[in-house]
Amino acid sequence: MCGIVGYLGNEEACDILIDALKRLEYRGYDSAGIAIWDKGTINVGRRQGKVDELRKIVCDQNFRGNLGLAHTRWATHGMPSERNAHPHRSEDIVVVHNGIIENYIELKGRLQREGLSFHSDTDTEVIPHLITSYRRKGLSYIDAIREALNDLRGSFALGIISENENLLVAVKKESPLIVGIGDGAYYIASDAPAILDRTNRFIFLEDGDMAVISHNGVTLIDLEGNTIERKVQTVQWSG
Ligand code: GLU
Repeated sequence: MCGIVGYLGNEEACDILIDALKRLEYRGYDSAGIAIWDKGTINVGRRQGKVDELRKIVCDQNFRGNLGLAHTRWATHGMPSERNAHPHRSEDIVVVHNGIIENYIELKGRLQREGLSFHSDTDTEVIPHLITSYRRKGLSYIDAIREALNDLRGSFALGIISENENLLVAVKKESPLIVGIGDGAYYIASDAPAILDRTNRFIFLEDGDMAVISHNGVTLIDLEGNTIERKVQTVQWSG
């Protein structure tokens, strides 16, 4: 269990995400990664070791864009390595995850029989492939995510982006995740201190909540697809 951050706004995402990730370093981790969306393409960078190692290889001209995700990993399934570092990808879908998918072996078998190939030893990689699998069956992006989540047993805080959607999707179940609301910008983070220099207005997601974030705002739904309401809370920070 380590850290997730995400950004959707009008500024360059890369430095914002790396700075926020640095503030989650205290949680401990073994590897770090980032994904930046730019006009229908997602570039992914991953590194074993420190966030500063990741910073060295990203935030150049290949990582320009106003939407992205970043992650620090504390390995639970699959050794600490670049190959197992998040984000994990399936076609256009890119996912970061904190938590444990308890039934990943069974899901992996099912997805491999459908012809999807795996590139890591993590439990997490089943998540993007499940979403791809449901999209291939004709579901919309959001419905495919919901169906995938309903197949998972275990704990998950997730950040999800797709090359085909200018959206940041966040999901929480038994792992921490908040949504930050700034001025024309939206954030997701495992905890508030990661993004308190950017905003002090937060939605504290509850278990089973899914936030669909676009430039027009945040829509919250549950895993059955019903719209839900959560208060935006202002946090006064004295630290
Ligand atoms: N279970 C996932 C993995 O081992 C996520 C670990 C984490 O929460 O950092 O890759």
